[in-house]
Amino acid sequence: MARIVMKFGGTSMAGMERIRNVAARVKHVVDQGHEVAVVVSAMAGETDRLVGFCKEASPLYDPAEYDVVVASGEQVTSGLLAMTLKAMGVDARSWLGWQLPIRSSEAHSKARIDTIETGALLAAMQSGQVAVIPGFQGQMEDGRVSTLGRGGSDTSAVAIAAAVKADRCDIYTDVDGVYTTDPRIVSRARKLDKVTYEEMLELASVGSKVLQTRSVALAMKEKVRVQVLSSFDEPSNDDEPGTMIVGEEEIEGSDMERQLITGIAVDKNEAKVIVTRVPDKPGAVASIFGPLADASINVDMIIQNDSKDTAETDVTFTVPRADLARSVDILESRKAEIGFNRLITDAEVSKVSVVGVGMRSHAGVAATMFKTLAERGINIEAISTSEIKVSVLIDEDETELAVRVLHTAYGLDAEQAA
Ligand code: ADP
Ligand code: ASP
Ligand code: MG
Repeated sequence: MARIVMKFGGTSMAGMERIRNVAARVKHVVDQGHEVAVVVSAMAGETDRLVGFCKEASPLYDPAEYDVVVASGEQVTSGLLAMTLKAMGVDARSWLGWQLPIRSSEAHSKARIDTIETGALLAAMQSGQVAVIPGFQGQMEDGRVSTLGRGGSDTSAVAIAAAVKADRCDIYTDVDGVYTTDPRIVSRARKLDKVTYEEMLELASVGSKVLQTRSVALAMKEKVRVQVLSSFDEPSNDDEPGTMIVGEEEIEGSDMERQLITGIAVDKNEAKVIVTRVPDKPGAVASIFGPLADASINVDMIIQNDSKDTAETDVTFTVPRADLARSVDILESRKAEIGFNRLITDAEVSKVSVVGVGMRSHAGVAATMFKTLAERGINIEAISTSEIKVSVLIDEDETELAVRVLHTAYGLDAEQAA
């Protein structure tokens, strides 16, 4: 017997037929004698719909009321799943965030989970009752509901798995595992049996939305065994049919044939800003990035190119697309102080990143990337690297082509059926 947390995403919960399918899958696991907690997302599209209502109600909506509205999608699916399970003869009940409670930090719409009370939850699970928990929500110190940021149900599931010391946290979604790249972009993407926490963290943070980045960071810290798998496949007798997220030690040695690059991710949520003719003197760059940081705007890629002919430099960087207008406002209001000539912005860019722990011990990964893109005439507008990642910024229109040619260049293509 094992203790298992099962999480079902929005596509898996979209409508009663799919909820019945989810319930049957939960029953299958319960019938094997396991203790089960289930974390659910809102039906696909529901959270977007609710966010739309908030914007319509007031462009500058109150974040506390926003959380009241958007947390409701998960409340509906948790109740529906518990009902459906009962109708199938499986003992089940819903536990809303405030009923456990799941205590969170004081940051509406982007709260972090601090603690989860497990007494009642464990007692229920041990008595054979399935606990159905709405993902994405928590409770603040003052008793009000909070939400964990978009995609946050993954983090709810991992946090609950850590709190109840689950043997595994199975994240059921609409693909059957983590692939070498988004299988909806590259049909030749290959499913990975295992991915390290570190690689998954890097892939998620550069755009692979199959798992929320924070859920991977939490799994890594708490050593939760996470599996990504499909809720649409037939339940299998294999315990691990999807992709397991594991420690590096579980891969080293066991997989000598592993590729240098594990995966490729795309992020279309960034925008580029060029600040031209900034005085090339100490403090100039600080005067650009200081005010952006004060406004909690996350700057990602940065390039500074000093001219040998003049005492001026162009500074290029990226910010989240949603923060572009605010960034321009902030910089324009400080134009005289910073001393630049003009701002050039471009929101039609995308960031393509290659990720792999093999990069630590092998040279030439970046060179292969630049050469492959050059051969297709794809211009690189900015570059950033970490120990296990190289990212380039390119024209948004060239994203699919770039990912496909890189996927082939790094030997990631799956064999095509004859
Ligand atoms: P859920 O609603 O179940 O949380 P998401 O839409 O958040 O599902 O995440 C699943 C999606 O992630 C897939 O449909 C796929 O398009 C996308 N995705 C992006 N990168 C990858 C990848 N490397 N492997 C698998 N899926 C990926
Ligand atoms: N329903 C929320 C969202 O769409 C949380 C989640 O599904 O993970 O962002
Ligand atoms: Mg998701």
